[in-house]
Amino acid sequence: MPGIPMRNGGAKARIAVIPGDGIGAEVTPEAVKVLKAVCAPASRTLEFVEFDWGADKFLREGVTLPLGAVEMLRDEFDAILFGALGDPRVLSNQHAADILLGLRFKLDLYVNARPVELLHDRLTPLRDRTEKDIRLIVFRENTEGLYVGVGGTFKQGTPDEIAVQEDVNSRKGVERIIRYAFEYARENGLKRVCMSDKSNAMTFAHGLWQRVFKEVRQEYTDIDSRHLFIDTLAMEIVRDPRQFDVIVTCNLFGDIISDLGAQLAGGLGLAPSGNIHPGRTSLFEPVHGSAPNITGKGTANPLGSVLTSAMMVEFLGWKTEAAAIRTAVRAALRENSVTPDLGGKKNTAEVGDWLARFMEKSSHAQPFK
Ligand code: ATP
Repeated sequence: MPGIPMRNGGAKARIAVIPGDGIGAEVTPEAVKVLKAVCAPASRTLEFVEFDWGADKFLREGVTLPLGAVEMLRDEFDAILFGALGDPRVLSNQHAADILLGLRFKLDLYVNARPVELLHDRLTPLRDRTEKDIRLIVFRENTEGLYVGVGGTFKQGTPDEIAVQEDVNSRKGVERIIRYAFEYARENGLKRVCMSDKSNAMTFAHGLWQRVFKEVRQEYTDIDSRHLFIDTLAMEIVRDPRQFDVIVTCNLFGDIISDLGAQLAGGLGLAPSGNIHPGRTSLFEPVHGSAPNITGKGTANPLGSVLTSAMMVEFLGWKTEAAAIRTAVRAALRENSVTPDLGGKKNTAEVGDWLARFMEKSSHAQPFK
């Protein structure tokens, strides 16, 4: 997937590592292992500082996102490598909401970038589709919409109960994500941007998306821009994913359509994502959650986290390293050096070791820098 705008561009970067719960704590060390391997032969230095925020800390100390954490991350780190949050012992999932949604909102990470890239033909459930057919990126608005937590219930627990959840869309919020999608397309030589909404039913909220889209697209006449209602997009992306380069949509629809996209490209175990504010400290996480059902078994697929780390170094401006990580992942898929969910026999750490060794060998053959 072509590059995402950079934060740092220098030779050194500080990374906050938040492995979190469940398989987050199992896959994140593998991504760090791979990052260390890719940086070793290059004149790049990554400094990792790990934070133990998650269910254990919450249950032990009652702390979710510690006081001053947001400012510390914002001022002292270039990026955050995140695992996953979610634990059956915390039914409210309060720690996950405070930490992950807290960071997304408080760091104003308004772009949720979710590449959908098929890395090996055998991984797509679509018949007769190959790597060259499935290569797009979804930009999901990440700070507004139905996820802002505005709403309430009335007469809860009675037969007359009413629940209201507000969909909040600001002119500023809609414009910046749409503009980002066009800028990304232009910077990366991509020719097509598709904005998706449900403005035929959600006339107020998505009427705003329509108006802003029509205005902004006039500044990007070099890009082929198009609109699809979200239900049509869901059909079209399955029928023929070749139609799409860049998709931009609201928080809820982006959540859903990017998971659909993840399945087209091999499933949750492989899907990376970035929560980005261009030029500011941004957060990178695999799309999958903490997966308690497989935690502790050693079967968690670390490739989603590893591909996430490639997005992160791309954000730092380190394109060669990002490409080297993706090359290694492609090689692992080709040689079936993968976990059982992808049909392999390796455990989580063995996949990380294999990738690190692959990069070590490739860097001897042809140094990354
Ligand atoms: P959430 O934390 O988002 O509520 P979850 O942790 O229950 O969700 P997901 O991460 O969404 O679940 O994944 C659903 C299922 O997919 C998992 O229970 C697991 O079986 C499988 N899965 C997800 N990620 C991976 C992975 N990295 N490796 C192998 N299997 C995975």
